[in-house]
Amino acid sequence: MQAADVPVHGGRTLAYVYDSGLAETDEVGRAAVAAYAGSNGLDPTAFPSLLQMENDLVGRACDLLDAPPDAVGTVTSGGTESVLLAVQAARDARPEVERPEMVLPTTAHAAFHKAAHYFGVRPVLVDVGADFRARPAAMADAIGDSTVLVVVSAPSYAHGVVDPVREIAGAAAARGVRCHVDACIGGWVLPYAARLGRPVPPWTFSVEGVTSISVDLHKYGYAPKGTSVLLHRDPHLRRPQFFASADWPGYTMLNSTIQSTKSGGPLAGAWAVVNTIGDDGYLELTRLVLDAVDRLVAGIGEIGPLSVVAAPDSTLVALTTDDSCDVFTITDAMTRAGWYVQPQLSFRAGRPTIHLSLSAATAPLVEEFLTALGAAVDEAVAAGPIEVTPDIAAFVRALDPDDLSDDDFDGLLAAVGMAGGGGVGLPESMAQINALLDLATPALREALLVAFLDRLTRPVRAVR
Ligand SMILES: *Cc1c(COP(=O)(O)O)cnc(C)c1O
Repeated sequence: MQAADVPVHGGRTLAYVYDSGLAETDEVGRAAVAAYAGSNGLDPTAFPSLLQMENDLVGRACDLLDAPPDAVGTVTSGGTESVLLAVQAARDARPEVERPEMVLPTTAHAAFHKAAHYFGVRPVLVDVGADFRARPAAMADAIGDSTVLVVVSAPSYAHGVVDPVREIAGAAAARGVRCHVDACIGGWVLPYAARLGRPVPPWTFSVEGVTSISVDLHKYGYAPKGTSVLLHRDPHLRRPQFFASADWPGYTMLNSTIQSTKSGGPLAGAWAVVNTIGDDGYLELTRLVLDAVDRLVAGIGEIGPLSVVAAPDSTLVALTTDDSCDVFTITDAMTRAGWYVQPQLSFRAGRPTIHLSLSAATAPLVEEFLTALGAAVDEAVAAGPIEVTPDIAAFVRALDPDDLSDDDFDGLLAAVGMAGGGGVGLPESMAQINALLDLATPALREALLVAFLDRLTRPVRAVR
């Protein structure tokens, strides 16, 4: 069944997966996951080896991110869980605030919107500047008496740029508010980039006012999926994240994360990979991948209709096109050519873009990638920009996201040629669907996607 999936290895999948290109290291990681698949992180006293591995990994992250001596942390299941816990801890540290808010640049990861939704913390969105970075004065102005958290990214997922952490964390500290740096994707790269002599603006715990940082091991730690680290500047800041319940007749539940029973596999896999690659290994992987980013950006400059949206601060590149073609046609053509690149819909005043997360394994393939990208662009220019049929566009624009009925959705599926009637298949070509979604407001996109997921996920029954 895996044959239909995007490849996890080989450097041709430029989102979702991160490939060090070190086959033996991957093997070590997989063996560790298997060895610990049945171990339970619920109770560190029953599985002391898991506790040791967690403390080792948190220590590594502390060393890397200039954490002070009394910093603490937790290994979580991923970036989203780290973000959820940072928001939950910030909210619960301020029980007197009746309607808690958090100040987010509009470029903050969607995981913060999920946290807002789960925990009832209202997001106060602040527009970013023309360079896609958060604007310190505007962020500071948005901090109010109900603000429990201010968020910045290092770097942002969509544009790959680092926010001005020093100014914003300083403004948060001046108001006595926590400041979280979301370094989920860049946290294991930027410190090595700095060591390699690249310009990296200050963003770690070396910056006064930064109270917590998230960094994913299953991204540029090149570990198997299922691990991130959430660090707090001191134990007091972490305390509200922990949960204990003795108010039932079973074992006393004591959790540092959202999960209670949790496989030891991902933690062991990450521990094995981080120790196998080692500090020198990460430095070398970072050198390789940043050199690849340079070659990629230079090559994109040679492809007429394409441009890089912002000069990358790290390993993420966002591209856009001029009016001669459409990013959605390009992403489909790349898929057919065996490369996975990720479309990003238009947002506020911004055009739709293509996201690339470069891995070390892609470094030797950059020239081949650029050739494929050039051919995909030629194909997209020949086809011209996508035009959504006017009556379908009108149909979509008339839909109400707060009241999307099954009939509306079935009508839309039929109109775009995806069978309705209870279930849907995965579409062959995404370009038309992305172009259609691009017409919709964010609220309507969300409603359509949720309806789609509902149809996609239906049980396979032996009994009907
Ligand atoms: C990936 C990412 C997240 C969410 O992480 P998951 O591991 O996908 O849950 C949050 N923030 C940023 C900046 C990310 O890149």
